Amino acid sequence: MAAFTKVKSIWFNGKLVPWEDAKVHVLAHGLQYGTGVFEGMRCYATADGPAVFRLDAHMDRLFASAALYEMELPYSREALMNATLEVIRDNQLDSAYIRPVAFFDAHSLSVWPRGCPVTVAIAAVPGTRYLDGAEKGVRVTISSIRRFDASVIPPAGKACGQYINSARAVMEALRRGFDEAILLNSKGDVAEGSGENLFVVKNGTVVTNGIDASILMGITRDSILTIAKDLGIPVELRAMSPLELPTADELFFSGTAVEVTPIRDVDGVVIGDGTPGPITRRIQQTFFDAVAGKRPEYRKWLAYASKPVGV
Ligand code: PMP
Repeated sequence: MAAFTKVKSIWFNGKLVPWEDAKVHVLAHGLQYGTGVFEGMRCYATADGPAVFRLDAHMDRLFASAALYEMELPYSREALMNATLEVIRDNQLDSAYIRPVAFFDAHSLSVWPRGCPVTVAIAAVPGTRYLDGAEKGVRVTISSIRRFDASVIPPAGKACGQYINSARAVMEALRRGFDEAILLNSKGDVAEGSGENLFVVKNGTVVTNGIDASILMGITRDSILTIAKDLGIPVELRAMSPLELPTADELFFSGTAVEVTPIRDVDGVVIGDGTPGPITRRIQQTFFDAVAGKRPEYRKWLAYASKPVGV
């Protein structure tokens, strides 16, 4: 992802503040120990103005992640949804990547975050491509670094500290000359990419794994499962072996940042003919139409910046 472009304001503990003023103390517990939770959302330009894709699902996950870490968010779900829309409006953004984050702030250096106030911020930056492979596909490597197990960190949560696992895997992938890593789980099955879920297409069926594979339950993954079913494409949810990857007909990643990104090769083994396959392209096109408000059946997934929630 390219360096972010600075915007005018960030929502910070209840109000919009200038970009430069959204600062945190160096002794924030979340910085020292990674005790924060976050989301990554996208806002898309539509004929009815900018709209956040699946805002409600992302807010549900933010609250669920916070609950896993016994963090009480000092704002309601509705307040944070409206704050998100306010950030889009105030910065006059059309398409954007949005980052809500909540963390235990500075108070004590004990690992137990007792008494730490909870800081919440929502920033949005103009939308950028993450892997830059939507058209031609990306090159991936199976990482030597395993995805953490549910006995270590709950994979369904999206906590700040757990991303050192992803960061290590992606650093290794880039060092090896690839665009992205695929992490296996502790069982040796496929888990996911460093920041995205993985789909295999084989003999016309779309396959992906579930929570028992130590994945983050992606909201894009969920949207794609719906889209595939609506397109009449058979879907299978099951554990995936790394041996299935080089022999897949098609492979693609899903995630808010990467949207639907085809995979061109795995450790140098070319997938299909090395170009995005027909099922990936159909799903990708439907997804792009859905986020742009071009498909009435998926408009329920859009929260328009011009329409505050609950009023
Ligand atoms: N897995 C991981 C590890 C991620 O960080 C993300 C991005 N949030 C995803 C999967 C995809 O999730 P979503 O579709 O909700 O963005």
